[in-house]
Amino acid sequence: MRLWRQPQAHRCVTRLPPEPGAFAARIAAWQRVHGRHDLPWQGSRDPYRRWISEIMLQQTQVAAVIPYYLRFLERFPDLQALARAELDEVLQAWSGLGYYGRARNLHAAARELAAHGRLPESAAELAALPGIGRSTAAAIAVFAFGERAAILDGNVRRVLCRHRGIDGFPGLPEVERQLWEIAARELPADGDLEAYTQGLMDLGAAVCTRGRPRCNACPVADDCIALAEGRTGSLPAPRPKRELALRETTLLVLAGAEGVLVERRAPAGVWGGLWSLPEAHAQAAAGIAAACGLRLLGLSPLEPFVHRFTHFRLRITPLLGRCAPVVRVADSGPKAPDAPAARRWLPVAQIGGAALPSPVKSLLRRLAADGALGVDP
Ligand code: SF4
Repeated sequence: MRLWRQPQAHRCVTRLPPEPGAFAARIAAWQRVHGRHDLPWQGSRDPYRRWISEIMLQQTQVAAVIPYYLRFLERFPDLQALARAELDEVLQAWSGLGYYGRARNLHAAARELAAHGRLPESAAELAALPGIGRSTAAAIAVFAFGERAAILDGNVRRVLCRHRGIDGFPGLPEVERQLWEIAARELPADGDLEAYTQGLMDLGAAVCTRGRPRCNACPVADDCIALAEGRTGSLPAPRPKRELALRETTLLVLAGAEGVLVERRAPAGVWGGLWSLPEAHAQAAAGIAAACGLRLLGLSPLEPFVHRFTHFRLRITPLLGRCAPVVRVADSGPKAPDAPAARRWLPVAQIGGAALPSPVKSLLRRLAADGALGVDP
């Protein structure tokens, strides 16, 4: 496969990569003047803080991350505090940030590292920890330990694909190989390392954006192949669309005087470790309610909706059931004696702060706002 296009004859652009060091020098110089310097995790070489920030920044924009990062650090100020915490506390602190696997992996890694008392100091060792990929490990190693390591996140892929005019969509093994090769080759000398790495991130986030890149503000526009060839809109090539499989499920919204019945999901798999609504058929609703000391007064289907995951779509049919206690349950909530997962009552007022999957939280908020759960959140 040919990944480097020949420039069109009438355009004045070279297909040769820039002189060694020139790409990085321009990005580092640009970052010093135009980049971001006041993010809460900048100005610190604390590996723990850098780790938390890099994990939160995966698939999430900076503006959304900042308040979560600050609250998380307040609650779990260091590795030991995170390792001591229960997973539920960590998931709760993560609630609303999405991609909860990141929180589970952070917690698992913290427990794994607690005996050593610190994070490992090389990108290679960091990449062996749960939830830390090659690029994240490199970013932590650059910012915390000054290691000369190449990053390649989604933003950087976009910048490199455009600047070098690389065809083929990121994710293709041959494209990935080439992008990593370029990322490693362009690493600057130590003095520019942090500014360059941060600069690549800043450039992808603020200038070489997905929709409309601001090429007139770009420090590497002079030899950008996509710009010269008028292909900034088509590079990087989009991943071919594939129809995601559709799965179906039914969620029981059992509402009583104590709130809504929720159960903890199994640690692995979709929404692993989070609290969610019992996933069961209508026929099971009365039994679940009875196991919690309740009588099911009625069950009505709500409008189904589809939630999109990376690899499949989930069509969710909620069933709303009102329950009355047979015997008044304790404040701590009932436990279903024969249930595989822990169950508890979630007070309606606590829905907003609970570690629930986002579509479940939205559904419950909607129902609460409509008065279907009895009390406003
Ligand atoms: S010139 Fe435009 S397309 Fe090329 S790297 Fe810069 S912002 Fe991206």
